[in-house]
Amino acid sequence: MHNNREIEKLRSQKNFLNPDISYHFLHEQERGPGGDLQRVNTIFLTSKECAFKCLMCDLWKNTLNESTPPGAVLKQIDYALTRLPEADVIKLYNNGNFFDKKAIPTSDYPGIIERLRPYNRVIVENHPKLCDETCLQFNDSLSGALEIAMGLETIHPDVLPKLNKQMTAGDFKRAATFLRSNGIDVRAFILLNPPYLTNKAENIRWVHKTVQFAFNCGVQCCSIIPTRPGNGVMELLYEQGHYMPPSLETLEEVFENALGLKAGRVFADVWDIAFLSRCPDCFEARKNRLELMNLEQKFYPRITCNCQLNYA
Ligand code: SF4
Ligand SMILES: [Zn+2]
Repeated sequence: MHNNREIEKLRSQKNFLNPDISYHFLHEQERGPGGDLQRVNTIFLTSKECAFKCLMCDLWKNTLNESTPPGAVLKQIDYALTRLPEADVIKLYNNGNFFDKKAIPTSDYPGIIERLRPYNRVIVENHPKLCDETCLQFNDSLSGALEIAMGLETIHPDVLPKLNKQMTAGDFKRAATFLRSNGIDVRAFILLNPPYLTNKAENIRWVHKTVQFAFNCGVQCCSIIPTRPGNGVMELLYEQGHYMPPSLETLEEVFENALGLKAGRVFADVWDIAFLSRCPDCFEARKNRLELMNLEQKFYPRITCNCQLNYA
């Protein structure tokens, strides 16, 4: 088990960020809860680093050490929105927890709500333990629907405690039930190949169990994220045999299985997944297939390639 201090000691330098500028933003399309294709603006806010120090997390790289100055988030949203097209949905992702008052000052809520008026859905990230009355008050003031994305990661009883997320599957269920019963939508982030789960078949099985658990908690949308190295401690875990990067084939399999449940929307996170590939000949086509399946929410036949003979 690694504690906060050990995890932080192995980190590299953070990126230098300007608190008045959102460090990234993009426009994409995503299948919405009603089955329609929605235009989505995602703004990656520059804010104070998350107070949790999860073992697999590398989001701290693009965060501030100090509390986010009041007003800065509003400038960041303005900066991004003047450069983004119109959209139906907005994701405000802050590499931490939206309802952490040191990350997003509550004095900025009215300004944020005003700026989000044109959107029919607002999606933010939050830790299950930080889901309380503040979420409900924020939701009440919004013009559009609020959706909160929470990391469930895995429900494996030996692995989840080792992730240093300070959360149990029961905590997640309580938060999801609280939000859903108060009219807030929920999506879950689920890890493929978290640290301390290195067997391929076990990883496939536990993603499936975790997706089922999430849907049973009332989650409407699951996003499967391949766990990547790069935060320092993950490299150490790899050397020690406690972390095995997933393969593209495993991501394909868990995504197909989860879609097959037909219990809600499922997305495979295809951002930065080149590290999963062992073959340059088929990588792009396979990534395109996953993107198409994300968009259409249905199965498409696998891409065939000679590399499958080599790795069969
Ligand atoms: S709660 Fe989320 S942002 Fe915070 S350390 Fe864990 S994974 Fe990273
Ligand atoms: Zn190939």
